[in-house]
Amino acid sequence: MALRLDSRARRINLVIPKKSSLKKAYEFAESYQDWIETKINELPSPIPFKNNVVLPILGIAHTLRIEKIDLKTTKFEIRNGEFIVKTCLDDPSPRISRYLKSIALQELGKLSHDKATKLNRKLSKFVVRDMKSRWGSCSTDGRMTLSWRLIFAPMEAVDYVISHEVAHLIHPNHGSKFWTLCEKLSDNFTAGHSWMQKNGSNLGRYGETPLL
Ligand SMILES: [Zn+2]
Repeated sequence: MALRLDSRARRINLVIPKKSSLKKAYEFAESYQDWIETKINELPSPIPFKNNVVLPILGIAHTLRIEKIDLKTTKFEIRNGEFIVKTCLDDPSPRISRYLKSIALQELGKLSHDKATKLNRKLSKFVVRDMKSRWGSCSTDGRMTLSWRLIFAPMEAVDYVISHEVAHLIHPNHGSKFWTLCEKLSDNFTAGHSWMQKNGSNLGRYGETPLL
């Protein structure tokens, strides 16, 4: 028997052999109650796109204000610490994600192209999307992908991830030459790298709704 944490699905699975009884399985799970509670409490709570939540967009805290209007098109405005969404949609969450993805494409794209230029290289393709286990990828032929949720990270962390991926244009590995270049490209390698190590997995909670 085994307990497995599925942090993306925010649940713990109990794996039992075919022949074992349900009673034994419950006893097994019960004996790990403390472990289960600790793991569940450790999971970052989701931050859905609801009125008045605070979203750190490109390093600046913005309060989300959702205003109901009669117009068919949804309008967005980011200013003075507020992210204003005027919409007729009952659940504008997917529309908000789409808008933030477009901001990520534009802003992270600009930074990425600038870093590549420093190495006399060009990005042949730049996309942002939902990424499950990584924050980015980049091939030596210049195809770069970043997780759009990086826009919720502070700038030094964004800068580090972009420097990391751009350094892969030259070194398709994580050898010592790669790390030297990554550090050289980063504005603040130490701060950015350690922020991602500590908080990177928490970025996935933005725009997620609680399961329970
Ligand atoms: Zn890498």
